[in-house]
Amino acid sequence: MTHPSTVNSVRRTPLPPTAAIWSGPDRGFSLEQQPLPQLLPGEVLVRIELATVCGSDLHTIAGDRPTPVPTVLGHEAVGVVEAVGGSPTTVGGLPVVPGQRVTWTIGTSCGTCRRCTRGVPQKCESVRKYGHEAITDHWRFNGGLATHCHLAAGTGLVLVPAELRAEVAAPANCATATVVCAARRTELTAGDDVVVIGCGMLGLTAIAYARDLGARHIIACDIDAGRRHLALAFGASVACSPGALETAVKEFGSDVILELSGHHRAVQSALDLVGLDGRVALVGSVSPGPQVAFEPNTFVRNLTRVVGSHNYAVEDLAEAVDFLGRTPMQDRFAGLVPASFPLTDIDAAVAAARTGAAPRIAVHMG
Ligand SMILES: [Zn+2]
Ligand SMILES: [Zn+2]
Repeated sequence: MTHPSTVNSVRRTPLPPTAAIWSGPDRGFSLEQQPLPQLLPGEVLVRIELATVCGSDLHTIAGDRPTPVPTVLGHEAVGVVEAVGGSPTTVGGLPVVPGQRVTWTIGTSCGTCRRCTRGVPQKCESVRKYGHEAITDHWRFNGGLATHCHLAAGTGLVLVPAELRAEVAAPANCATATVVCAARRTELTAGDDVVVIGCGMLGLTAIAYARDLGARHIIACDIDAGRRHLALAFGASVACSPGALETAVKEFGSDVILELSGHHRAVQSALDLVGLDGRVALVGSVSPGPQVAFEPNTFVRNLTRVVGSHNYAVEDLAEAVDFLGRTPMQDRFAGLVPASFPLTDIDAAVAAARTGAAPRIAVHMG
């Protein structure tokens, strides 16, 4: 095992086309050289620069959620277009050409089914998600933990500025875009008092994004003192433990509550504490859990809106990349990804990610 590098000291020796093939919780990863695909119209081949290991990858690796295997895990990534089939365009309408630095949506969308046309392309009837599908003869590079990613037709591509550091850009297509979508669905706007419950990667991003949008007060809530400390550095007005949340809400308000922890007690708190004309986005609850209760009369009289928010639309990804490019917190975001392992050390990278010591661990491809 080699030691991880800091992200800025990454070696740049290109590997031949290689994927970290994952074959299940008991069989783990194997590095395998793979033939590059013959691209079909609308497809794009990207050479991955850097990927980050997301919490959902760790859930899959732990066996907590089923995924067809063998597969290439990973979906948070940034890379450079290497080849193009047909004439796909970026989300901004530019032709996709080799040499462009890009990130891409977590899944494909057909653009024509009822879900796509009604603004929820992440729920496309024929969605295929990177890092979640079995490999096939034509689709061997279908995740982020590989030298290349084979982008299927219907994937939304967003250009990534050269000056945006890879470790800051890589989480854009999962953590950042998910936060942007939740903020959009709750109509988070300047002057809102915002509560962020759960201060991991999504929560810290949400705090910085709410600050960017002009939130008045931001309450950060987490059980972990270290995360509360980070939350203040990312722009929270106050950071509290769950037991102190009610008091903080009385003092600072709660127009928008973003529930990112997924814990049923936190969900209950969000429903109990949302303010008049308030909006709650439930984001963290992505596996079945205990029921929570609410008293409908209060919701009626308080004009409460509760939305579920899962993944995002391509416009959210474009806004996510734009936000990461304009935020004054780029050094802090880079600090959330303190180490990078080569793809050849994928087991060490995953082991480091599973300690939970850092919000993200990176994997670089050289
Ligand atoms: Zn569709
Ligand atoms: Zn993810």
